[in-house]
Amino acid sequence: MARDFSIVKIEDEADASKENFSIPRPGIHPSASSVEFYHQGERVVEGYCLRQIWYKNMMRFFGAKLLKKDISINFARAGKLGKWIERGILEDWAKAGILIDNNIKFYDHKYQMSGEMDAIIRSKETGLLTGVEIKTFAGYAAEKLLFGVSRERGSNKRMAGRPRDYQFLQSCIYAWKYRNRFDNFRLYYHSREYGKRCEFEITFEKRDDNRHTCCWEQVKGGDFKVLDDGPVRMPYAIEDVYDRSVKLLGYINKKELPPRDYQEECSPERVSALYDLDKVSFAKHRDWEKDPEKNKIQDKACEYCDFREQCMMDDLTF
Ligand code: SF4
Repeated sequence: MARDFSIVKIEDEADASKENFSIPRPGIHPSASSVEFYHQGERVVEGYCLRQIWYKNMMRFFGAKLLKKDISINFARAGKLGKWIERGILEDWAKAGILIDNNIKFYDHKYQMSGEMDAIIRSKETGLLTGVEIKTFAGYAAEKLLFGVSRERGSNKRMAGRPRDYQFLQSCIYAWKYRNRFDNFRLYYHSREYGKRCEFEITFEKRDDNRHTCCWEQVKGGDFKVLDDGPVRMPYAIEDVYDRSVKLLGYINKKELPPRDYQEECSPERVSALYDLDKVSFAKHRDWEKDPEKNKIQDKACEYCDFREQCMMDDLTF
């Protein structure tokens, strides 16, 4: 009898039958933001592929029948771990008396963008109001990226810690939207394994063309292995991030398939540009140099894309 009863089974059934109570509206979420710029003559996209978000919209709002990889319940639950940790962090901040509000939802009609900012805190010492986006991470690759490495294996290259591209872009949207309401904005990371933490301040610098360069800066006191002083300026402005959302809306409204933002197989020029931007590891680049046919380099986004099969088919039919 006892063996007929399984908590795991109950959890799985509850997850599988969960209803979605959010208001369904075609458009974009800040977490799916992206931006494009040129480096060494190559067009580089950071963040989400427009085509991938377009597929999601077509399936969800326009009933398109598309090939999509199923997500396993275990994978979905791994994603939930982040949410559980986030709740614990908010509880801690409430106990510490610094939490003002959390899970602040908004809908931006102009960009058809719905989002949810994680928290607002107030420093007891300075009284400053700070907006915060909370992210969790796990694994060596994420740790290396966020905390930096003093000597990269193989290349001995020094790399300062940096936020993940797409999470930085999402935070930029919140930081920009609430720029007149908060004194500053932070992107805060917490490990799902060893409790390591770090945070980045997000700022904007006005350019001569009246656009605003997106910048991040490591905040001392985190578990960084390599510290960089001062803000790190991105090769794009916040207006460029919004421009991509407008571009996506154009494709959604016309129901027109966007071109691919990423490549299944990168050209030598693209590999060189991505390596220079630290988007290809030393080891991968070395193997590719030895045998480019055998050790092809592809954009990571395609490796993990749920719509990869559909995207490959559309190559033939569109
Ligand atoms: S497979 Fe690559 S190019 Fe195609 S939709 Fe996915 S991320 Fe975009």
